[in-house]
Amino acid sequence: MWRCKHVANALAKHHYWELPWARRIGLRLHVALCFVCGRFHRQVMLMQDAANIFHKHEEEDDPALRIPMPDESKRRLKEKLRASEE
Ligand SMILES: [Zn+2]
Repeated sequence: MWRCKHVANALAKHHYWELPWARRIGLRLHVALCFVCGRFHRQVMLMQDAANIFHKHEEEDDPALRIPMPDESKRRLKEKLRASEE
């Protein structure tokens, strides 16, 4: 059972996609359902995705616009933009 403190520690020490799948599922479930920390940690995960894309861009030396954003990141970004417009 994940607690807010465990999620914070895990995301501070690791990129969420590097966690073993069982831990990643538990973390995602907590973040999706938690009223206390869910919003903040979803943003942390989005920033990890953005940093990962930037890092790939740096390594491959491709223009940033050619690197596709993961569908999950697109969905979460759209969600955030809609929420900020309300
Ligand atoms: Zn929480």
